This record gives sequence, C-alpha cells and structure tokens, in this order.
Amino acid sequence: MTAADAYAALLHRSKEIGIIQSCAALLSWDQQTYMPVKGTLWRSEQISYLSTLAHEKLTDPQVGQWLAQVESSELMADPEGEAAANVREWRRSYNRATRVPASLVAELARVTTAAQQAWQDAKLRNDFPGFQPHLEKIVRLKKEEAQAIGYSQHPYDALLDEYEPGATTKDVRILFDNLAQQLVPLVKIWSGSQRRPDCGILQRDYPVDRQRIFAESAAAALGFDFAAGRLDVTAHPFCSGIGPGDCRITTRYNPRYFSEAFFGVLHETGHALYEMHLPAEHAGTPLGTACSLGIHESQSRLWENQVGRSRPFWEHFFPRLQQTFPAALADVSLDDFYLAINEVRPSLIRVEADEVTYNLHIIVRFELETALLTGDLPVADLPAAWRQAMDKYLGVVPPDDSRGCLQDIHWSFGGIGYFPTYTLGNLYAAQFMAAARQQLGAEQLQQDFRNGRFDRLREWLVHHIHRHGQRYRAQELCRRVTGQPLCPEPFLQYLRDKYEPLYGS
Ligand code: ZN
Repeated sequence: MTAADAYAALLHRSKEIGIIQSCAALLSWDQQTYMPVKGTLWRSEQISYLSTLAHEKLTDPQVGQWLAQVESSELMADPEGEAAANVREWRRSYNRATRVPASLVAELARVTTAAQQAWQDAKLRNDFPGFQPHLEKIVRLKKEEAQAIGYSQHPYDALLDEYEPGATTKDVRILFDNLAQQLVPLVKIWSGSQRRPDCGILQRDYPVDRQRIFAESAAAALGFDFAAGRLDVTAHPFCSGIGPGDCRITTRYNPRYFSEAFFGVLHETGHALYEMHLPAEHAGTPLGTACSLGIHESQSRLWENQVGRSRPFWEHFFPRLQQTFPAALADVSLDDFYLAINEVRPSLIRVEADEVTYNLHIIVRFELETALLTGDLPVADLPAAWRQAMDKYLGVVPPDDSRGCLQDIHWSFGGIGYFPTYTLGNLYAAQFMAAARQQLGAEQLQQDFRNGRFDRLREWLVHHIHRHGQRYRAQELCRRVTGQPLCPEPFLQYLRDKYEPLYGS
C-alpha cells in the first residue's frame, strides 16, 4: 500500500465515522424534540450502539498503521496542506481514543449516567452531600483519563484538549487572570451606576406564537437558511449540525420573558451559520469540521451579543418588535429597551448572566475545577470554595448550593475542561469583530445593521473562519484573522465603548 492509498483509506474511514456520528446526532435531536417518551430505552440502545461502532472504527489498529505510513510520507511536506491538517486531527483523535483503556471508558459511562441522575435530584433538593460521592468518583476517573492520555505540564491540559485542541492550562490561566483583574472593577462601576434599566419591560406579555415568528424572521435576516435547517422547541436549547444542508437549532419560549427565546435563537443561529458554511466537500473529515468549541462559541456570541445587543441592530428591529407586541411595548422607547437588554448586574446563575459579568462565572469554575483535578481542593470543600470565589469575583454569595456549585450539568457528565471554552468564545468573538470592523469599516457595518443587512459581516466570517474547518488550530486561526494571539483587550475595549456611555466610567 502506498502512502496515497493509506491517505485515501483514512479519508474513507473518517467519512464513515462522520456518517455514523451524524446519525447519532439526528437520533439525539429527535429524542429531545419529537420522540414519544416511551421510546427512551430503545433510543439509548440505538445511540450507544452507534457510538460503540464509531469508536471501533476509530481505534481499529489499521488506522494507526495508515496514520504512521502517511506521517512519514511526502504527503506531509506542506505543513499547511489539506493532508497535514487532516492527519494532525486524526492523530489527535486516534491517540485520545486508543490511550484510554476500554475499562475506564466503560466505568466513566456508568458513573456519569448515575451522576447525572444524582445531580438532578441533588440540585432539586439542595443536597450537595447527595452528589458529593458521585463527583468524587468522576474527579478520580478524570484524573486517570488525563494520566492515560498524557500531558506535558498540567493534568487539566489533557482534558481541556478534548474541547479546545492545543489550548493549555497555563495560557488560559494567564488570559483569565488578566481579564479578571480588569473586569472586576468595571463590574463594580457599571452595576453601581445611578442609572438603572427597567427590566420589567422585558417581562410583560409576549405571546409565544408571535415570539416564534419574530425570532424566525430575525434568524432568517442573519442568514439562517430554513431550507437547510429547522428551529424547534426543547427544554435545553442547542444547535446540531447534522451534515451539509441540514442544521437544527432549538429554543424555549417564555410567554412572560422576551429575552430568553430571542437571544437564545440569535445565539444558536450563530452556531448554525458556522455549521452551514463548513465546506460540504470535506464533510465527515477534519477540514469539514468546526475548529474548536471556543471558536464555535465565538460565532454564537458574536451574533447574540456583539450584533444582537447593539443599538444599530435594534434601530432596525425595534419598530418591528413594537408592531409585533404593541401591548407590551407601545410605551417603551428604543433607549429604554436598549438599556434593559444591556443590564449589568452580578448574579448567582451563569446562564442568566449578562455579557459583562458572564466571564467571571467561568473564571470561578476554571479555578475550582483545576484545583479539584490536582487535589488541591477536596470535593467536600467545593461548596465553601464556590461561595468564596463568587464573593471574590462577583461580590454575591449563593444562599444555597442549588444556586451555587450544583447549578451546572457539566461536572455530572464528566465535562471537566469544558467551561473555559465559553470565555475563550467571548474573547475570540470580540477580537474577530474588532478585525471585521477594521477591514469592513466600523461605520459601514453599523449602517448595515441599521438597514437590517448582515450579509457583509456573515460573508467575512465565512471567508475568514467558517470555510477553514479544522485547517488551523484555534490559536493559529486567531493570529491569521486578527494578526494577534488571543488577548482580553479587544473584549475589554468593546465593553468600555459600549457600557461607559450607558453607565459611566
Ligand atoms: Zn453556545
């Protein structure tokens, strides 16, 4: 077999695995939208069968042989060529999948299934001791997983790499420390301002059928193609890219709170635009796959916050919103509405946090989960450490663990290393947007938004980010797009430009 044959075999295998995974994704979408409740057991057998099949196809010793053959061939001569990028990501997946022993994979699956149930109960009953033994097992197993995968500096590196390939604990810590240092005083100033928004205007009657029509029209205006996607209702909103020409997003409507569904839809639309513009000819291979969770989140946050909470955006949409909800908004001005959707207030719950305070919630979790992993923080001490960290960064202390360390699902499914991708996404979004403003013209972009036009920004994102798939790692992509490594300054500058006129400096 020649190296070219080995590469062709890898391409074929990669597409097979991609097809299996996309079938599982479709089954999972169906489970969360329309599946009859009694189908749960059989559905979990279907999904678990497909994920075992994909795992076998990936860890097949032949894959290792093909990889070795291609890696030592002239196909790798161009380090930025297609083959080099695909092989780099296949190698990463292959190593991760083969280094973790099957017994550990099985134990993690068993422990996290039980833990998710226990977490739900514990959150409901504010019963951290009920969840503690599960989390202790998970931390122990994730430590073992990190050891098995290997790392050069910090065991957390091995876990972070699952979601953000190439990122290191050290870099993230420097970035987050720098961000926190500058953010904490800004939060104090803006949340302490005399000027307070009237957020009650967002909690009036917003009939659900009208919310749906309005959200769909906004998603379409941003570029969501309803012939290549769907918007449905689920308990927990998500975006699932099934494959070329098929990307599904979901939301949930609250008849007494406008922001929940609307900004959720903008967020998921941002994820969907990325999925919709990955190169179809590379579907099922790294070049047709999103770069990282951080880059994915940058796309959702860019449309949700940088665009969707901007004044020019609402100069276009607010008159339409008033027409759609005359009873709720007839007496509300654009300025009052704009202020209300940009409230700054330290709060207890991450998913409800505004864009200024949100990253401090992530920094709390990053600090605590790295300490859990090294053993510096025993699981038993987590609730107290949580309260202390919330007080330090946000100046608020949860009165119970349900609104404290039990609020997120992530640790119960073993997702240690996931949280930083949210803040990386926010920082990437701001840095990309600053580059787009520079290249497309800040004033012209604002004028686009005032006119309800988003095509120039969208095409810029497609050209600079979406079409590359995993050709570059996130860190390299950022340098190419913005000329700089990721840093907190563009995000902080964006906040100052936006919030100082609202709440003072
Ligand atoms: Zn997201």
